[in-house]
Amino acid sequence: MSYHIPSDEQVQKALKKIFSKRRTINSQIRLKNLVEKELKNKDKNYGVSSTRLRNIAINSDFIKLEIHSREGDPHKTMNKCPVCGHSFKNVKNLTIYGGEVTIAFRCDNCGYWTGKKKRIPTRYIFQVKKK
Ligand SMILES: [Zn+2]
Repeated sequence: MSYHIPSDEQVQKALKKIFSKRRTINSQIRLKNLVEKELKNKDKNYGVSSTRLRNIAINSDFIKLEIHSREGDPHKTMNKCPVCGHSFKNVKNLTIYGGEVTIAFRCDNCGYWTGKKKRIPTRYIFQVKKK
């Protein structure tokens, strides 16, 4: 089944409404359900993908994203942020222990970071940003 695609603005509006009633939403699926429920008041075929919704939330000025993760494969190369899809630009050689270089990546867009053991996002918590 195909669905209609709401504008970024409409998604932002739905997010604002949702976060005016609560401070924290503990999972991406829950947030997606709430946003879609809100959007369906306007058009019952509206839908938004999890990735798009996450990116709109990251780019909004009133939501803070908390990323929970598990350790991943240290040999895996990561060129893109697994959270928001931005490419990593600032690769830093932090420390050298006996010739071993620890590399840290940090995403300027969403705040995701990882060391040598690639952190794999497992859960997202969305919170109202404190002003
Ligand atoms: Zn990111």
